[in-house]
Amino acid sequence: MNTRGTGSAGKHTQARAVRSAMHKMSDSCLKCATAFDPYAPSSASDAMHVDHIRPSSWGGPDELYNYQPLCGPYNVAKGDRSDADYRSAKQKLMYPSPERIIRQEKAERKRDETAALKVREEREAQRKFSNSPAQVSKRAKDDAIEAERVAAYQAEKAAEKAARQAARNEKNRLEAELAVRQAEAEKAVNASVAEKRRVRDRKVAWVGFSSFAIIVTVIVVATIHGSMLQAECESEFTNYVDINRCVRNRR
Ligand SMILES: [Zn+2]
Repeated sequence: MNTRGTGSAGKHTQARAVRSAMHKMSDSCLKCATAFDPYAPSSASDAMHVDHIRPSSWGGPDELYNYQPLCGPYNVAKGDRSDADYRSAKQKLMYPSPERIIRQEKAERKRDETAALKVREEREAQRKFSNSPAQVSKRAKDDAIEAERVAAYQAEKAAEKAARQAARNEKNRLEAELAVRQAEAEKAVNASVAEKRRVRDRKVAWVGFSSFAIIVTVIVVATIHGSMLQAECESEFTNYVDINRCVRNRR
């Protein structure tokens, strides 16, 4: 197994990625601004050299945050004699060092803590303010006013309800009274009809009785008159034919 070969290939791949990252950071030398051909061999005049900012011999790591793109002559001139960093602040931000990240995180935490402290302090101040005697008494006053307003509202509602109930009661009373009057009127009409019928019946009975009495009287009178004529004629005549003629003539 050729471990060196595999290592080489890995390093080569990493080198391509590093060169691509450096070319992305700048397409010209950070020191002299010579434009690069990133694919030119390192011996070419426009080749891009990946410089260790802090030299490897000084313990500079093989990390993106320790690389900068320089032209061949400046990279050679710098060698391991300098840790000059030619990146702009913005370019440094592209690959910040772990130390820088830790510093940034610390600063961020401090900002957060400061903000939280400020919020706590404001809350405390607010609490103190709202617990101050003036605020407490103002709240009590406001509460009393609100309670009064609610009581007035409820009383008004209750009065409205009572008025509605009274109106309903009055309506029911009037309806009941009307019903009683109607019943009385109906009863009176019925009584009058019954009375009229009674009077008519009495009249009919009286007329019938009177007619009967007159007829009986007439018959009785006629009978008596006939008997008297008969007796009179019988005292004057003896013959049956003569008596009959006498009765017929005198009737
Ligand atoms: Zn240069």
